[in-house]
Amino acid sequence: MEIFKQIAPLKAHLHALKQAGKSVGLVPTMGALHAGHLTLIEASKKQNQITVCSIFVNPTQFNNPVDLQKYPRTLDKDTILLEKVECDVIFCPDNLEMYPDSSLLKLNFGHLDAVMEGKFRPGHFSGVGLVVGKLFNIVEPDHAYFGQKDWQQFAVISQLVRELKFNLTLHSVPIARERDGLAMSSRNLRLQGEQRTNAIAFYHALLTAKDNLKRGESIDQVKKMVAAKIREYAGITLEYFEVADSKNLNLLERVKDSDHPILCIAGFAGDVRLIDNMFLD
Ligand code: AMP
Repeated sequence: MEIFKQIAPLKAHLHALKQAGKSVGLVPTMGALHAGHLTLIEASKKQNQITVCSIFVNPTQFNNPVDLQKYPRTLDKDTILLEKVECDVIFCPDNLEMYPDSSLLKLNFGHLDAVMEGKFRPGHFSGVGLVVGKLFNIVEPDHAYFGQKDWQQFAVISQLVRELKFNLTLHSVPIARERDGLAMSSRNLRLQGEQRTNAIAFYHALLTAKDNLKRGESIDQVKKMVAAKIREYAGITLEYFEVADSKNLNLLERVKDSDHPILCIAGFAGDVRLIDNMFLD
């Protein structure tokens, strides 16, 4: 496994491999890797001869400086994990390598970043689009892999790829969960005791919501149920629960207004922000 901190030698390394006809898959991450990230690596390894995992805690996507400061950083452990799953290349630049000049560019994804995560984390998707665009230009992958867990991110990046005509194929990989159903997340490392136990509230709320919607309850009724259910768990607070069209992220008032609705939830366990989602079908 090769490890690069700088862009130029990484590009030279990948150039030689591409000249030799090898296809390249990219898995962008912020590190503190868990089994969910490794499913993305696995998916890339199945489709490509070379898999590049980038590890970069991207400052421009954090709207909360405390969250950025507390974000777990475990590069040594990540390297061991990636070695074990036979990832080919790690790209772990520092801030200066990725942002040598002060960054001025802002990306606006219109409706796609006006709702849910975009509404509660202003500027988040501009930062995501910026760093993912940089990574696509640096690595020039044939395929790139993202988790369904960040579904809105996937919608935003799909738009980025379409509009800027990046020559690559995007893939969304299903959510990997802990035994009790909690969606795996690097931020779970920060959950202590009861916070960790009760963080399951979001998954339980999604399951019940899905069940109730399938039985014909209205989205309005289900929203009230979700708010009440989350209140039953000590230390857990709800930020939003929405049912959206999974393609255009339009928020739905009736499930029949979409061919493929997705249920999205976000909130806090203590001061740790968590998100989760589930397709209706
Ligand atoms: P992050 O390091 O949190 O930015 O995540 C890097 C990539 O891993 C993103 O595409 C995430 O959607 C994906 N990911 C994070 N958690 C999971 C999970 N539990 N299952 C599958 N993919 C995930």
